Amino acid sequence: MIDDCGLRPGDSVDRLKGVGDARSRQLGAVGIHTVGDLLFHLPLRWEDRRRIVSVEGIQENGSAIAVRGRVTGMVSRRARRRGLTILEAVFEDPTGQMPVIWFNPRGIEKRLSQAETIVLFGVPKAAPRGGLQMINPEVEVVDDSDRWVGTLVSVYPTLGSIGGPFLRRLIRAALAALENLQDPLPKAVARGLDLPDLRTALRSLHRPAPDIDERGVEMLVGRRSPAHLRLAFDELLAFSLGLAQRREQRRVDPGPRCVVNDAIRRRAVSMLPFQLTNAQRRVLKEIAADLEAGPAMARLLQGDVGSGKTVVAAMAMLIALENGHQVLMMAPTELLAEQHRAGFERLFQETPWTPELLSGSVGTAQRRKILTGLADATCPFVVGTHALIQDAVDLANLGLVVIDEQHRFGTVQRQALMGKGVSPHLLVMTATPIPRSLALTLYGDLDLSVIDEMPPGRRPVRTEIRDDGAREKLYRFLCSEVENGGRIFVVYPLIEASESLDARAVTEYAEEVRRALPDLRVEVLHGRMDSGDRDAVLQAFRSGEVQVILATTVIEVGIDVPEATVMVIESAERFGLSQLHQLRGRVGRGMRQSWCVVMVGEGASEAAKQRLARFADTPDGFALAEADLEMRGPGELAGNRQWGPSNFRFADPVIHHDVVVWARSVARDLSDNGQLPIVAEALSRYHQTEFEILVG
Ligand code: ADP
Ligand code: MG
Repeated sequence: MIDDCGLRPGDSVDRLKGVGDARSRQLGAVGIHTVGDLLFHLPLRWEDRRRIVSVEGIQENGSAIAVRGRVTGMVSRRARRRGLTILEAVFEDPTGQMPVIWFNPRGIEKRLSQAETIVLFGVPKAAPRGGLQMINPEVEVVDDSDRWVGTLVSVYPTLGSIGGPFLRRLIRAALAALENLQDPLPKAVARGLDLPDLRTALRSLHRPAPDIDERGVEMLVGRRSPAHLRLAFDELLAFSLGLAQRREQRRVDPGPRCVVNDAIRRRAVSMLPFQLTNAQRRVLKEIAADLEAGPAMARLLQGDVGSGKTVVAAMAMLIALENGHQVLMMAPTELLAEQHRAGFERLFQETPWTPELLSGSVGTAQRRKILTGLADATCPFVVGTHALIQDAVDLANLGLVVIDEQHRFGTVQRQALMGKGVSPHLLVMTATPIPRSLALTLYGDLDLSVIDEMPPGRRPVRTEIRDDGAREKLYRFLCSEVENGGRIFVVYPLIEASESLDARAVTEYAEEVRRALPDLRVEVLHGRMDSGDRDAVLQAFRSGEVQVILATTVIEVGIDVPEATVMVIESAERFGLSQLHQLRGRVGRGMRQSWCVVMVGEGASEAAKQRLARFADTPDGFALAEADLEMRGPGELAGNRQWGPSNFRFADPVIHHDVVVWARSVARDLSDNGQLPIVAEALSRYHQTEFEILVG
């Protein structure tokens, strides 16, 4: 408990007034150990307390206001519910009176009884006996040192058991340490990008200038103020530099040795059931060059749904296998893993290699056999789900890991895999059309290959938007499609939080569809089914025995049935653009004209309808991703983000997409002029450098 003079960011929080042992333990438990940690705990929002309203002028419109005056009467009582104290008071200013109630008013009674003039800050609500009242308003005693009225007040997210107002007081005290805060960014860089220095940035977030204008407030709220950009930039730069360092490291580590000779080339050509597209050929060349180069490959293979990534991966696996290495492919779902295994079995028919399946659905005996085979290298070729890693698979000789449509492949997971052999080659495949500029940064430690061409003969899927009024017509259309040899997916969105409820909703909906399509066989597919049943349904759909699959989004990724020609998406407004595009990608894989019917629910908003119209007009996944970036406002559902590291504290790849690009270019400059290690070190004092990454 020393005075503030000479306070440093590195000092322990217990140097601050009001932080004793207990508080300091509480803060430590939520990761706040130093004064600097407090400085980087940013406000969640800002409240404008610059305008004082008179009691007479109060309106009930849901927004918080400030009133200034005094308390004339107070009664405190205990409610019958145990532990609850209620303090009732009358507030007055020269224009009128208003009742105020506090529940469990810790210390407020004492403060009120000693204060002459106070400011209350809260939301006025209709009182049961008429008129307006305030419940649990914040109290400021006007002649206190602790004054906020007349400012834009920062509101902090609660940390564990530590409340926002306490944090605000604490952080205000911590601001004294800004004097001693060293800026981790070289001055020239910040100036070049027109970003404020770190001190200014932090100060203006915690205590915005009192004369900040409306536009300034808007930028704060939208997390696009100069201060926000500065913090996002630092974090993205720390991230980019971390990636660059990892990439350097990998250049040094030797990867499994591979050569591509004529025998392998001949075998590859004889296996392929079709000619590769130019894009597939180009990408395969890039991969083959990586495999031969020495250091372990780390490549992201990006290609729109249906562009034919699987066969490219198969060729990469062939090379590794022919060179005596084990190969491993991971898929996000059992369904997809089994589809890949079956596909590879056909493709590798004439070779000595047979893929084995390792997923949750494989019986114990079979699993044990495969695990043993992996450990002693008698089992060289395995396709499976994440269970592969979780089961702590031991591999004798891992040469190549392929990760298909992976939603999450963080550093942690990658390392878990890498630990299984000597830095195996890594190929990550995604259909998520991340704009290239962002991909280069967000996956900066991976090299990027793009398949930007569709296999020949594909006709673009026709997308139509319909509502409930068109249901009869839709069912007639579905019947005629099946008569002409087509097959149909109907996707039903997840609505309930619980999977079992969803499964039930889907089953009920299936009854309706069955009644409407009495001559067709309709089967349901959802995440709760056991894998045997799921495979059976999919198999029957492939063979044509079942003509309609009604599914929750388990079919979203990867499912490949060329005969499927119609994708009906129910309540499509509930899906994000990228997800819709993934779903649409399930059809249009054969030679026949395919359709995507977007059913709009009754409750869809105007904005949602516009989004769907954009989807219908945009066949290309990359263009759609750009549109997504553009259209995704603050109103969009949270958790809808489809890519990027999941654990940034300050940066958001969508809100700060331009900053992502700056960070990449600065990282490159720093690397070129040898400053990378110094800046990385300086940034790592405030920012982490390891992230989990989301794709898909
Ligand atoms: P995705 O890139 O979405 O994973 P797939 O690898 O599943 O796409 O391929 C989609 C479909 O296109 C598969 O049926 C596959 O056999 C077929 N295909 C892939 N490449 C070609 C090609 N060069 N010519 C013709 N068909 C191809
Ligand atoms: Mg695929």
